[in-house]
Amino acid sequence: VRRETTFDAVVVGAGALGASVAFHLQSSGRGVALADRTAFAAQNSPRAAGLAVQVRTSHSFSEIARRSVDAIAGFERETGIPLRFDQTGSVAMARTEVAAERVRDHPSLGARNGIESVLIDPAEAARLAPYADTRAALAISYTPSDLHLEPGDLPRAYIAAALERGLTPLEGVEVRELLVEEGHAVGVDTSAGRVEAPVVVLCAGPWTSLLTERLGVPLPVLPVRHQLMVTEPLADVERTHASFRVVDANVYARPCWGGLMFGGYEDRPKPAAAEDLPRDLALFEPDPAPLEELRARVERELPVLRDARVRVVRGGYPTLTADGHFVIDELRGALGAYFVTGCNVGGLSTAPATGEDVARWIAGGRRPRTLDAFRADRFDGWVGRAHELRARAEEQYARTEYG
Ligand SMILES: Cc1cc2nc3c(=O)[nH]c(=O)nc-3n(C[C@H](O)[C@H](O)[C@H](O)COP(=O)(O)OP(=O)(O)OC[C@H]3O[C@@H](n4cnc5c(N)ncnc54)[C@H](O)[C@@H]3O)c2cc1C
Repeated sequence: VRRETTFDAVVVGAGALGASVAFHLQSSGRGVALADRTAFAAQNSPRAAGLAVQVRTSHSFSEIARRSVDAIAGFERETGIPLRFDQTGSVAMARTEVAAERVRDHPSLGARNGIESVLIDPAEAARLAPYADTRAALAISYTPSDLHLEPGDLPRAYIAAALERGLTPLEGVEVRELLVEEGHAVGVDTSAGRVEAPVVVLCAGPWTSLLTERLGVPLPVLPVRHQLMVTEPLADVERTHASFRVVDANVYARPCWGGLMFGGYEDRPKPAAAEDLPRDLALFEPDPAPLEELRARVERELPVLRDARVRVVRGGYPTLTADGHFVIDELRGALGAYFVTGCNVGGLSTAPATGEDVARWIAGGRRPRTLDAFRADRFDGWVGRAHELRARAEEQYARTEYG
């Protein structure tokens, strides 16, 4: 049997973002192929913390985060495919005056974006996240509709729903080159031969720039290592407990597999060049030392971690940008070719709305307003200032708004 090789669209990369784009395109009646050189949903996405934190300092980010939480909560009803999640809310505390000012802003930032967030006292925090000690807090916020989920479940659910709607899976198929003729995308060259399509969406995570650079278009993103750990089961942690962040320490925690997941942002980020990344993050070598440093910063707030046994340390390479926003655009010189990158460590939880908006753009021919903040040309003035872009992206890493 000859495999079909012509589609309305090819999506490259089956992480959370590619899976969501593919689902939404397929749902709009297009014939879509989804290609990934490794197994589906096997790279950054399943290694994420799975936190969906909606109150962000930026309106654009908050908006896609809120719509994505709504989409996750309604996913099963909408698609018939089960998707488990724990909508236990999130508690954020600050121990310094600077961080406390940010936390005190959560209710108004939330209200501006249709998200309920309230200030609470340590007694209330102890009820919501009993594994955390917030007595040293200057301010604590609680966002009841924040949720978390097993991260790999999200892309897997989107892929399952897309397959039911007729998606063509190209699992284990590497895309080697984006094919462009007379300024239009015409398909991709792959390890399984040529695949034709007038629309190509590059969702290849930190490897996306490797495909655009072949066409002479570098992307203003920086892959930065990010890690977390999960403990063995702990008596003090239950699935019904809220997630927890210490904003000034840049750390987060949540119930996971009967234990606690703990991660955070190191002071000295470890960027990497896309070409130096392993092709398969199964080869990622965890470095527990920075996590140990972060843990020491919150000894008082997370006493359960003191004697906890570590079950797993894992990590990956999210892509950072100089302003903390995605870069989502049509590729210059290649009409019909789109790219979705610059997740700033938030691409898992915002994939539902992002994928929907990219599909709307492709179907309707006009960029939705919600993607305006993510235009690539906002970095035009930065051409030739790669080092500066890099320094700003590193700064963003430390400021990422899990806080
Ligand atoms: C430790 C950690 C914690 C995180 N916590 C959170 C969190 O709590 N909340 C949140 O929202 N985000 C979080 N993130 C960020 C999140 O993981 C990313 O934003 C998200 O996974 C990005 O999805 P993606 O689809 O772009 O990337 P990926 O999941 O990496 O998918 C890209 C895919 O492209 C494929 N690919 C690459 N090149 C090619 C090619 N040439 N041909 C074919 N296929 C190709 C890859 O094999 C891969 O499957 C975290 C990240 C890490 C590392």
